[in-house]
Amino acid sequence: MDHHGAGREWSFNSLVPDLLEPGCEFVVQQRWTEYSGFLERGCDACLLIGMHAMAGTPDGLMNHTISTSSWQNLWFNGVPAGEIAINAAFCGAFGCPVLLVTGDAASCREGVGVLGAGLTTVAVKEAFGRTSARHVAPRRAREMIEHAARECLRDLAAVAPYDPGRPCEIRAELTHTAAFDDVRRRPGLAVAGDRTLASRADDFWTAWRQLYL
Ligand SMILES: [Zn+2]
Repeated sequence: MDHHGAGREWSFNSLVPDLLEPGCEFVVQQRWTEYSGFLERGCDACLLIGMHAMAGTPDGLMNHTISTSSWQNLWFNGVPAGEIAINAAFCGAFGCPVLLVTGDAASCREGVGVLGAGLTTVAVKEAFGRTSARHVAPRRAREMIEHAARECLRDLAAVAPYDPGRPCEIRAELTHTAAFDDVRRRPGLAVAGDRTLASRADDFWTAWRQLYL
């Protein structure tokens, strides 16, 4: 399941079917977190490959939060959140832990900050600007990720399923007023600033669906 999006026509549809293990089933979806069927049926673990640090991280390659063009900051109960926390909370809502985060060094650091020292990480690049980085060659990067994926699955309890807390307030600061106008009248959302929305509910998953779906 593409948890991230790859832009243009591949958004949430970046998996190459012919390269997948024959035993896999995979999901094509229109929007992030639209599909939760795997999680509802019970899923041992989620492994997050190729993540980015949240917007504003100085050493985060292509750092962004949801969308570079329309979102700036996000908080779960007052704690800054990026795409790692969103995916982890989405999985956590169904009791599924995230055991692996790979990406640049900043995203690995962010992952440990959210999920704790039990998280396995693989840093395959180190950024020295938003679009500048020193990389591990792809062939070795794939070997590092495959090795870590095998290892982390030996202990499914190494990381607890992530829950940002109950009740849950998600606060979102958008980048401009046009993006804000698109969503500010949705039911369940409160205006919390000129470009900031608050979604409050008993739990993360309800608050997230009010904000995002
Ligand atoms: Zn990203």
